[in-house]
Amino acid sequence: MHDPIQDQFDVSSLDLGEIIDTIHGEVQARLGEGKAAGYIDSLAAVPLDRFGMAVVTTGGEVFEVGHSRQRFSIQSISKVHTLTLALDAVGDDLWRRVDREPSGDPFNSLIQLEYEKGIPRNPFMNAGALVVADVVLSSYDDAGQALLDFVRRRSGNPEVGSDAVVERSERESGYRNIAMANFIKSYGNLENDVDAVLDFYWLQCSLGMDCVDLARSVQYLAKRGHCGVSGEQVVSYEMSTRINALMMTAGTYDAAGDFAYYVGLPAKSGVGGGIVAVVPHMMSLCTWYPGLDDKGNSLLGRYALHRFAQLTGLSVF
Ligand code: GLN
Repeated sequence: MHDPIQDQFDVSSLDLGEIIDTIHGEVQARLGEGKAAGYIDSLAAVPLDRFGMAVVTTGGEVFEVGHSRQRFSIQSISKVHTLTLALDAVGDDLWRRVDREPSGDPFNSLIQLEYEKGIPRNPFMNAGALVVADVVLSSYDDAGQALLDFVRRRSGNPEVGSDAVVERSERESGYRNIAMANFIKSYGNLENDVDAVLDFYWLQCSLGMDCVDLARSVQYLAKRGHCGVSGEQVVSYEMSTRINALMMTAGTYDAAGDFAYYVGLPAKSGVGGGIVAVVPHMMSLCTWYPGLDDKGNSLLGRYALHRFAQLTGLSVF
C-alpha cells in the first residue's frame, strides 16, 4: 500500500488510473445492489447496471472509469454549490440561520426543526438547504442563473442544466419539502415566498451532470479555494477548509460518522447516486451508482470511496 508519510503525499507516486480500474473491476459483481431513490419517479426508473468514477488532480489530470460521462441527477450534491454561493454573499451571517452540527437524522427529517425553533442543524440536510436557497434567492438578482453560471464555470461545461423531467417529478412528490419549507417559514427563517424557495431548491436538485463535471465543480475545495478550470479564487482558502469540515461532519447525512471512519474524506452525496469527495491539496473525485443504501447514499459509491482511501492511503486523518 502507498505510504503517504514516506513520500510526503506525492500524488504522482500513485497510479490513480490503475487504482480506479481495480475499483471498477471490483464493483462489477455487485451491480444491482441497493435501491434507486423510490420517492422521485424519474430517479426510480434509473437502471442499476452502471457505475462511473472520475478523479481530477489539482494539477488538472483526469482519471476516469465506467460511466463517468453519463449525466445523472446531482440532487443534494448541489447543496455544496449553493452553500458556496450563500457564503460568498453573506459570509458568516449565514450561521445565524443555519447551524453547523451533524444531525444524526435522515436528510429529509423534520424532527429537530421544532425543538430548535426553525434553525436547521446544518446546510446539507434538506431543511438547511432550504434556508441556504432562501439566502441565495435574496442575494442574487437571478438566483437560478447565478447557480447555473456557477456550476458551468466550475465544471467547465457550459451545457450543464436542469433536467425538466426530474424537476417535475420533484415537484410532484415534494410533499415533505413543501411541509418543511412552510414549517421553517412559520419560524420566520425564510425571507422569500415558500414557493420561490421551493422552485429554486427543485432547480438545484434537478441539475444533470456527470462524474467529470462534478469532480471539477468541487475542485476549489481541494485547491485552496481556486477553481480547477479557470484558476479563479472561488472562496478563500479558509472558507474552503470550512466547507470541507461541513462535508465531513454532515455531507452524507446520518452516515457521516461512518464515512469519516471508513473513507476519511470530506464528501457530499445525493439521492441520484452521486458522491463527490475531496482530498485537500491533491484531488477531487466523484463516483456514481444509482443504487442507494438505507441512508440514501450510493451503495457502490460508498464502497468505491472506501476502497479508494484504502488503496491510496489517502485520508485526512
Ligand atoms: N431532491 C431530494 C429531496 O429533496 C434531494 C435529497 C438528496 O439528494 N439527499 O428529497
